[in-house]
Amino acid sequence: MIRLGVTAAFFVTLSVLTGCQTNKATYKDAFDQAGKRNDPKAQAEMKKELEEQKKTAAWAEPRRAHLDDPAPLSAYRLEDLSPGHRPSIETDEAGLWMTMDRSEQRLKTSGRLIKDPALNAYVRDLTCRLAGPHCKDIRVYILRIPYFNATMAPNGVMQVWSGALLRLRNEAQLATILSHEIGHYLRRHSLQRYRDIVNKSGALVVLQFAAALAGAPGAGDIAALALLASIQSYNRDQEREADGYGLRLMYEQSYDPGEAHELWSRILKESDADKDKKAPDPFFASHPPSVERRDALKDIATKLSGEKDWLVNREAYVAAVSPFWQQFLRDELKLGKFDRSMALLETLAEDGMEPGLTGFFKGELYRLRNGDGDYASALMAYEEALNSGQPPAELHRSMGLVLRKLKRVEDARGAFSKYLLLKPDAKDAEFIRMFIDGENS
Ligand SMILES: [Zn+2]
Repeated sequence: MIRLGVTAAFFVTLSVLTGCQTNKATYKDAFDQAGKRNDPKAQAEMKKELEEQKKTAAWAEPRRAHLDDPAPLSAYRLEDLSPGHRPSIETDEAGLWMTMDRSEQRLKTSGRLIKDPALNAYVRDLTCRLAGPHCKDIRVYILRIPYFNATMAPNGVMQVWSGALLRLRNEAQLATILSHEIGHYLRRHSLQRYRDIVNKSGALVVLQFAAALAGAPGAGDIAALALLASIQSYNRDQEREADGYGLRLMYEQSYDPGEAHELWSRILKESDADKDKKAPDPFFASHPPSVERRDALKDIATKLSGEKDWLVNREAYVAAVSPFWQQFLRDELKLGKFDRSMALLETLAEDGMEPGLTGFFKGELYRLRNGDGDYASALMAYEEALNSGQPPAELHRSMGLVLRKLKRVEDARGAFSKYLLLKPDAKDAEFIRMFIDGENS
């Protein structure tokens, strides 16, 4: 997964047990390994090597060696999934899949599911191109949850959260997270993690694992989803391997590998802006954006830079996602993480998002934060949005609300009237009319 979830001691324990330490394996190794998927000779060699490894590092063995020297990239690797693979019924893998199948049923009726056909077709199509022969095995669900995240369950259920779609700049960056998740799937990292948990921990942990899987994401609240995300979290080796596989899949479809590095730079910038250290975002709390990871991705991108005419596809991405920008930005501001949201708005403005829209939401940020001088800053941002772009009609309603708080009654009435003029059929028109009448009296 791209992000990790909550920070309960239980999960901290798990991450220690699963050995989040660096080792000799590199992104380059992972990238090269992934390239062997299409090479029958390399595949045969890998298979032979795997058989050897199974003998020496069987799962059932005490994992002492792994704790002492946490796994070179291939130390306890499972074989890649083959297209159409379903685990045989007697295996623990089948049990894991069945649990996830049940969870998928709940996902289908989740209130957070974004069903828009055009957006789903867009993300689905890109996933398919990246996944190649595995296309049919992967189901993508887009959820309206304002955190940067994507997850991959062992049975091929991929979740993409709206907080990620808001933050990505172009199709190549979307390809970065989709292919990374496909990497986790192909390498069966969930199964590795599940076995780590079972081997290293007591029955209680296994029960918690099952409960969390069963409880999400139909539960619908973000805490439950964050819990699930945490359980599906991977260690550093697995993340590196997924990055390597992801880059390879991007490479095969000619998506600019430089955008993987660019994406991580953006995430780091937003994380640095988050001053709320007491209640950091679950993503940043448990998964500090890593400079090492960003730089490793940059090295690979630099080496590959001259190889192809790389695709970035900003226009196609904007066409698919921009109808949701207002909704996603409203969800973002509801989190109340204003420092981080301001950094995000600045990044989106730099990207070329309509200045009326970024300006409006800057004003909304000040209005909702309501600190010293924030109402005045909100009015300035609204004015700037009106002068520089085409903000939504709701800007006038927000202006009216701020002016009313500042006891500028006549100005508030004017702003509310402008809102109704632009949007006479607004759902809250009656309510706003009451305000106007109230200001008259
Ligand atoms: Zn990951």
